[in-house]
Amino acid sequence: MKVCTVQPDSSSKKYVLDTSALISGNVNPADPSFLIPSSVISEIRHGNLSMQLETLSETLSVTDPSAAAVEQVRKKARESGDLSKMSSTDVDVVAVAMEHGGTVVTDDFAIQNVCSHLCIEFIPSGKAPIKDRVKWIGKCSGCGKTYAQTSGTCGICGHQIRRIRSSSRKA
Ligand SMILES: [Zn+2]
Repeated sequence: MKVCTVQPDSSSKKYVLDTSALISGNVNPADPSFLIPSSVISEIRHGNLSMQLETLSETLSVTDPSAAAVEQVRKKARESGDLSKMSSTDVDVVAVAMEHGGTVVTDDFAIQNVCSHLCIEFIPSGKAPIKDRVKWIGKCSGCGKTYAQTSGTCGICGHQIRRIRSSSRKA
């Protein structure tokens, strides 16, 4: 039986975010300890987080795995029977974690299983370390009025309220 080596290196610890972790709202993707494969970014661009990511894109630590790491993860996932349940994005997430000694932040069972086979640490997104918690507020897509609630319709103009990142500075 393979024994995993623990690497206690909390100061420079890196966390690799998968799509579910990134959209969970539990983590701040601009935190430099979070690594994000570019395939995760492009997956999210199709969803409603794309606007927020546009404004964050300069600060994100976008990191792509080497072809060798991707191949190694695919091989292990094939052995464990998880490959058919994983997207190429999922494989990238695990491969980046493998190359950087990072912890995968994911709620996906197939990813977690492959991580355990590769001796890669993983945690669910609800358990991700939060140094700089994202604060969300609602903003009307029509008139721009801000709300404490992050969904629903604007009481003034009737447009949809969208969730945006609140400014970290107090006005
Ligand atoms: Zn409005």
